[in-house]
Amino acid sequence: MIKKKEYKFWFCTGSQDLYGEEVLRHVAAHSKEIVDELNRSGILPYEVVWKPVLITNQLIRQTFNEANADESCAGVITWMHTFSPAKSWILGLQEYRKPLMHLHTQYNEEIPYDSIDMDFMNENQAAHGDREYGHIVSRMRIERKVVVGYWKDDEVRQRIASWMRTAVGIMESSHIRVMRVADNMRNVAVTEGDKVEAQIKFGWEVDAYPVNEIAQSVNDVSDAEVNELLDEYYEKYNIILDGRDPGEFKKHVAVQARIELGFEKFLEEKNYQAIVTHFGDLGALKQLPGLAIQRLMEKGYGFGAEGDWKVAAMVRLMKIMTEGMKDAKGTSMMEDYTYNLVRGKEGILEAHMLEICPSIADGPISIRVKPLSMGDREDPARLVFTSKEGRGVAASLIDLGNRFRLILNEVECKKTEKPMPELPVATNFWTPYPDLYTGAEAWILAGGAHHTAFSYDLTVDQMADWAEMSGIEAVIIDKNTTIPAFKKDLKLGEVFYG
Ligand code: MN
Repeated sequence: MIKKKEYKFWFCTGSQDLYGEEVLRHVAAHSKEIVDELNRSGILPYEVVWKPVLITNQLIRQTFNEANADESCAGVITWMHTFSPAKSWILGLQEYRKPLMHLHTQYNEEIPYDSIDMDFMNENQAAHGDREYGHIVSRMRIERKVVVGYWKDDEVRQRIASWMRTAVGIMESSHIRVMRVADNMRNVAVTEGDKVEAQIKFGWEVDAYPVNEIAQSVNDVSDAEVNELLDEYYEKYNIILDGRDPGEFKKHVAVQARIELGFEKFLEEKNYQAIVTHFGDLGALKQLPGLAIQRLMEKGYGFGAEGDWKVAAMVRLMKIMTEGMKDAKGTSMMEDYTYNLVRGKEGILEAHMLEICPSIADGPISIRVKPLSMGDREDPARLVFTSKEGRGVAASLIDLGNRFRLILNEVECKKTEKPMPELPVATNFWTPYPDLYTGAEAWILAGGAHHTAFSYDLTVDQMADWAEMSGIEAVIIDKNTTIPAFKKDLKLGEVFYG
């Protein structure tokens, strides 16, 4: 479902004509070589495109406007090989509207001690020229990512790669359309928010449909299609009957197969990439969509439960950002459910009523059919599994009344000490950084929700960069967090963004 967009990033090298033709030829050759090597490294998820060296106000302005107009361009990477008087950049930067990176690098790695002379110094003066350029970007209050280091260094390339994913998140955010087939759960505060402001800030379109319109689409699915998908389920997943009659069990699973097909058709027809449901508003649907939603999330759809459209959009956004990533470990909606407070073994058991994305699963995935204590429909089928170990990021976008805040917590996912055979839902178990006590205290002080958008494949830095580029506050809870400093962060945020 996530369609690979062939985004590209432009590489623009700044210089001036003071140094003569030969220097400019070198500047062009060097920047071309850097671009070629970056593309050849295999580290960058998107191609870098070399652009002719920028030496005049007019060419700079024209290039930035071409970048705006080119739909495949997701951002511009700038670098001043020599000195480039920064007033030349003002008009171009003023008109530029896409993500911007300042790669502060240098063609040569080492000072050529034996041969260095003033000609060399004039040709290779990024340390000088990049400061002039950086000044004007700061003076103009333009958000940009600054990456410092040698262009052949893998860590530097990794930082460019990470930023590219964030930049694509910015570009793709305005293509996210969330379908709500139910309103927010009654009386719940944190899942609410200003949808108009979300469209202004992030470009998200959030629309409501009567649940029975999508239920009709589910009804219209043919038995043949349902049976074909059922076969796929039975081939792919373990069946845990829990003592139920196999025929009756299969009928329950078939309901979810029909929902998956009906929902997918409806979402595709109407061009939505994320969906919210609510267990209390199911209309003619026979079961709360469980397995069906899990499968749709795996295909790339965003999802939020109980009407939580912010989480639905965030899950979709994070799936876009990790798209095509080699060895990706998965991205899902999550919910903080219950704690283990035993000293030394602290953690949060993450789950939901049903809807956790199987992309995060570790090991076998099973289908179970169990009653739901909430809602008034038949027992829903769901995919049950445990999740991978390792570092991840939990994100919560909240509406503070006058603005949005993104709360980011780095977490360490672990195996639970023992299996939980009586728990018929997919789970993850993590300890927030820096530890459960500080992490949870900071999260609550910041106003973070119980629903989160979670990914193993993104970092807090990437998400914080996305927030910054979107013009909203991000607060980070990680290994360096202390409560007094975090409280100061929140107070500063009130001043800056309030
Ligand atoms: Mn929930």
